[in-house]
This record gives sequence, C-alpha cells and structure tokens, in this order.
Amino acid sequence: MSEPGISEIGFPAAVGPEPAKAQGAARPESAPIVEPPPPDAPVKALVVDDDATVRRLVCHLLRGGQYEALEAADGAQALEVISQELPEIVLTDWEMPHIDGPALCDKIRAMALPYYIHVLLLTARNTPENVIHGLQSGADDYLTKPVQKAELLARLNTARRIVVANRRTARLARTDALTGLLTQRSFFEHLRQHFSLARRGGQPLACAMVDLDYFKRINDVHGHLTGDEALRTAADVLRRESRESDVVSRHGGEEFCILLPNTDEDGAQVWAERVRQAIAAAAIRADSGEKLTFTCSIGVAGLSEDVLSPEQLIDRADQALLCAKRSGRNRVLGYLAATGNEGDPQYKSGREDIFAGVLARDVMTPVISPLRMETPTRSAACFFLRSRITSAPVVDDQGKLVGVLSEKDLMAAIASVDGWQRPISQLMQRQVITYDESVPLRAIYEFLCRVSIRRVIIVRQGEPVGAISRGTLLRWFHCRLNASGELPHDSAEEPSPYAQDGREQLANIARRVAQEAEEFRRNLAADDVDQQALIIATATQLQGLTTELLSQSGSEGLARGAFSLGANPE
Ligand code: GH3
Ligand code: MG
Ligand code: MG
Ligand code: MG
Repeated sequence: MSEPGISEIGFPAAVGPEPAKAQGAARPESAPIVEPPPPDAPVKALVVDDDATVRRLVCHLLRGGQYEALEAADGAQALEVISQELPEIVLTDWEMPHIDGPALCDKIRAMALPYYIHVLLLTARNTPENVIHGLQSGADDYLTKPVQKAELLARLNTARRIVVANRRTARLARTDALTGLLTQRSFFEHLRQHFSLARRGGQPLACAMVDLDYFKRINDVHGHLTGDEALRTAADVLRRESRESDVVSRHGGEEFCILLPNTDEDGAQVWAERVRQAIAAAAIRADSGEKLTFTCSIGVAGLSEDVLSPEQLIDRADQALLCAKRSGRNRVLGYLAATGNEGDPQYKSGREDIFAGVLARDVMTPVISPLRMETPTRSAACFFLRSRITSAPVVDDQGKLVGVLSEKDLMAAIASVDGWQRPISQLMQRQVITYDESVPLRAIYEFLCRVSIRRVIIVRQGEPVGAISRGTLLRWFHCRLNASGELPHDSAEEPSPYAQDGREQLANIARRVAQEAEEFRRNLAADDVDQQALIIATATQLQGLTTELLSQSGSEGLARGAFSLGANPE
C-alpha cells in the first residue's frame, strides 16, 4: 500500500511494465498478454499444408501423442490461426500457394506473440542449400518428406521439451515464487491492456488492493515460515474466489492487487467482502502447533470517466485501502465511499455546498522553500525551529517531490550525533499523500476527515506547490464565514474558550519565567551539577515560555475569545 493521496511517488512509473518480448527483433504492435500455460498442459501444434491427406495424417499422429492439433491449408490461414489460437509448435510444408513455408517462418518471427513458437519445416526439398535457407528464414527444425512416423514423433518430442522449458522460464519470470500469483510487473501489463479495452468498449473494470493486517506481528511472534504460510493461504483464497478472467497478483510483501474485468465498484465491493470473510475464516498452523487466524483490509475502485490512467485506478484502490486501514482494518472500502466523491448525503440534502467550485490551489498554504534531499539533518532541524514549522516537502535536483520530512522523522536522528549529520533523504517519508492543485477541495476535506493523516501535499507536475492540513481547512472555513458575514462581528458576546483572560495568562507566564530563573540560579550554585545539561534544560524551558509569550502578543482577539489559529502547529 503506498501511503496514498495520489500515490507513492514514482510508483506507477517505476514499476510500469516493459513491453513483452517480441518473437523477432521487429515488433509491429503490442502482443496480447497471455500467461504461459502450466508446464504439464497439452501442447497446441498447428499443421500447415495444402495437401489435405498430409494434414490429416500428421494431425492423427499428433493427437495420438497427446498434442492438441490444429490445421491450416495455406500460409494466410496459418497466420490467422496462430494469432487466434497461439499454438506453441507449427509444422509447415514448404510449397504452398501465396505464402510458402520459409515466408511463413519469416512472418511468424515478425509477429508480436506472447511466447516463442517452435517451427518445423516439412518438405521434399532436401539439398543442403534448402536446409540452410529454411533454417535461416526462422525454422527451428527441418524434416524431409516422405516423413517417417518415428522420426517425426522424435522431433516433436524435442520440440515439446523446448516448449515446456520455455513455459517454465516464462512462468518463473512472471509469477511470484512464494504464492504462484502474478508479479507486480506482469500485473501492470495486464492492467494496461484491460484498461484500454475497457475504455474502448465502455466496459466496467475494477481494481482491488488487499493488505494483510498486522502481518509484521505474525512474522515477529511466529517466525517468517509461518508468515509465508499465511501469504500462501491468502493467495489460495484469492485464487479460489476469482474468475478465470480476473488478474490476481502479489504486489510484494503482504499486498495483493486484483484486476476485475467487467466489474464495477459495487460489484468489486461484494467480491472483496467475500474475500475478506474467507481470509478471516482461513486458519493456518504455527510452528508451535497453535491455530492462527489473520485478517485483511481491502480497498476497491472502479473505472469511471475521471480515471485518466491505469495507474490512477490502482491509486484509487490504494487510497481506499488506506482508509480501510485507518478506519480500523479488517474491512472493505470502496474509493467513492472512502473519499466522499459519491456525494455525502449531507450535501445531497439541499444544504449549501461550501466546497462548490473550490480547488486545492485556492486554499493551500503555499510551499515557499522545499528542502533538498541532501540537506543535513541538523540544518533541517534548525530550519524547523526557526520557521516554527513541523514538516516540509523534500525535492530532488529537478525540484520534484521525493518525500516529506516531519518532526517525527527528526526524532529518529536525535538518538545519535551521527544521525544528526546524515542527509534528510535517509530520514524522510518517501510515501507522500499528494493531490494535484486542480483537485476539488472537497476530495481533500473528505480525506482528511476520514484518515488520521493530518496533511496532504499539493503538486503541480510533480513539484510541491503547497500543503493542505486540517488547520488550513479550518482557517479557510473561518475566513469564509468572516467574509460572508455569518460570523458574529461582536465576538465579545461569545464565551472565551480559555480558562483565563489575557492579563491573567500574562501574569502566569511572568511567574513561570521568574520560577525558572530562580531555579537556574540555585542549580548553578550547586556543586555536583552538570552545567551543560542545566543550560540546555533551562534554555528549552525558556524557549517554550517565549513561544507562549509571543502567542499572547496578538492576544487582543484571544482575550475576547475570537477564533484564532496560530502559525503553528499544523
Ligand atoms: P498493517 O495492518 O498496517 O498493514 O500492518 P502490517 O504489519 O501488516 O504492515 P507492515 O507493512 O508494517 O509489515 C509488513 C510485513 O510484511 C513486514 C515484512 O517483514 C513482511 N513481509 C514482506 N514480505 C514477506 C514475505 O515474503 N514473507 C514473510 N514471512 N513476511 C514478509
Ligand atoms: Mg503492506
Ligand atoms: Mg505443398
Ligand atoms: Mg499489512
């Protein structure tokens, strides 16, 4: 799960698929994405010959040898059968009208096919020149007619061995070794294809992200082998609950991503709920013999008009997953429900929509100076203290957002002087919730209402241009009320939110400053005191009191009880 918003930075691009390997060097258009059959599945073989008797004979032989036999009467027909049926072996005659055997080999090698076809040329031509020409045009093997049954079977056997070895290699590359599910990379290839098919055909498409809950605990308490067992069990459930056409993948770690063609978000939610229950009901045995159960959270998203790319669909499922996690785990959430894009009933019920037409960029607090990733931690810490901010976006050389550094991250560096020298790129959070500046503010409002994340970063073409936190939203709302005159002007009538009035608070601060000074003087006089520690402790206390004092400088409003939002802490 990428900490969502719009996603883990660079996530889609970084793992985006590379085109499948073409048969030959040239690759006219993208190959259909077909997963290689299991190694023991029957091998499809196509017999191409303009002589019906030869075809029949060879097919008969093939079927007896456990092959699935297909036929074509000429080269053109053969090409059609190949693109539709994807045989793994082709046995072709040399002399045929229009497209002859060598020309067919040539064309096969130029086709964009999902896997390699083993081609055998069967011909009466038997000069060494013929053999060389045949092999050079792309045939893998060469047999002269009249064909001996035993020899043909032996050659076919060789072909089958190669086909099976190819299947094994291809599956290894495309599937995850632990679970046997597709890898993330293979998944993205399917995703692209399904996305454009669904777009073109106006068909529904949905994506589900599954993440096991508190999985780290299973590893920590019961060991990795038990963790692995849990992963395999979850994968089995996903396989069992999916249709043949669904694309089920392991996205690394304890996350799974499933593509559900011809399914909308509602349908996907129903499916996901079934999966959630099945995973919760599946038990594994820990090494200790103890029976163990575990749960998962699932986020789903359906393809809608405003989903512009395959990655955006994944990202929405990811956002929904985050919301499912943040709202308690062991649950399914749809993107629309999670982000409020469905339209909150509150807005539907005729109340004025205060977010209408307001975009992120209208409200965000601009980012003035993002931090560079090579900045030493100590400089960043000074910057935080000086500018009284608690977090800042971090950019690379190109000014693109690569992470966010917060006070919490700095905590990790406090423990050692060494940590203090390290660049902030080693501390920052790389997973950042980002929204484009043109996103409607309501989407961000709904997000911040539902999740415990306090702030999202606003980007323009990958560069951080602002931030919106809960504080930003409160301030915007406050300004809006002020401007519309809905806020009582004479706020003197409002009760003060503070227990004390301004003068009393100042007096309190003065007393605390005096106490602090007195204590400092007394401790300095003591014999056994660590002076440096004393100075640091006192300075820290005094700095806190200074901040408090400064906050009272604009306290005219505070004393009268107005709604004031200080510079800090968002
Ligand atoms: P949450 O509910 O928030 O998802 O918590 P979590 O503990 O599941 O999430 P977190 O991301 O903290 O931990 C994921 C763990 O998954 C950490 C990592 O050690 C473990 N993990 C990743 N890949 C494998 C694997 O192949 N086998 C095993 N046994 N564990 C793995
Ligand atoms: Mg995870
Ligand atoms: Mg012929
Ligand atoms: Mg998890």
